[in-house]
Amino acid sequence: MIQTEFPVDTEVLRSRIIETARSMNTQRLNVNKSGNVSARCRAEGGALAFLITPSGVPYDDLTPEDISRVTRLPTGEWRDEGPLLPSSEWRLHAAVYESKPEVRAIVHTHSPKATAVSCLESGIPPFHYMVAMSGAAEIPCAPYATFGTEALAESVTGALRHCRVCLMAHHGVLATGSGLPGAFALAVETENLASMYLDLLQLGDVRLLPEDEMARVLERFRTYGQPGRKA
Ligand code: 13P
Ligand code: ZN
Repeated sequence: MIQTEFPVDTEVLRSRIIETARSMNTQRLNVNKSGNVSARCRAEGGALAFLITPSGVPYDDLTPEDISRVTRLPTGEWRDEGPLLPSSEWRLHAAVYESKPEVRAIVHTHSPKATAVSCLESGIPPFHYMVAMSGAAEIPCAPYATFGTEALAESVTGALRHCRVCLMAHHGVLATGSGLPGAFALAVETENLASMYLDLLQLGDVRLLPEDEMARVLERFRTYGQPGRKA
């Protein structure tokens, strides 16, 4: 069986992953080489497959052939293909794709303001209605675990259960989307909200929107924007 609903592994898709990764640096979400980007792709036999940036290579040096492809075989084992080792966080990306079938792209950043909030071991509470862009009334913070481990994958998938984005304690942000532009936009919005939240923390008492108002906002977001245009 071929999963026709996912994009084919093409040079264009690989190039989009590289463009998204480079944008993390140009938009100041990352400096030097940090974070990683992936996109789900079509695989034969109903297998789960995704393309991901290789580990530790500056994004400006990447060519489409350098992007790694990770596939879950029918035996349950994972196989990676490509000339370079996949991102050290491939297990994290795999776990998110496994637990959230609607997710087609993942952007992981160490963006400075959101990472600063994550170092307080705090999420971003509903101080502004745009927090609901996360799909929940609060952007949660996944408990700390060492980078590249199964424990981090478990922690993050737990935090993402009711949400499209989370902070990762003492580490960064993981944003998901139905495509690369949506995942990237959510990472940018999270950084923007974190920046405002840090300013507010310095001013003192942070006023939060009540639960029933966030429920209304979440409901409005379900139909916000142009019908049929998905990020
Ligand atoms: P990679 O270069 O292996 O993707 O690691 C970067 C990172 O952000 C680890 O959490
Ligand atoms: Zn990281």
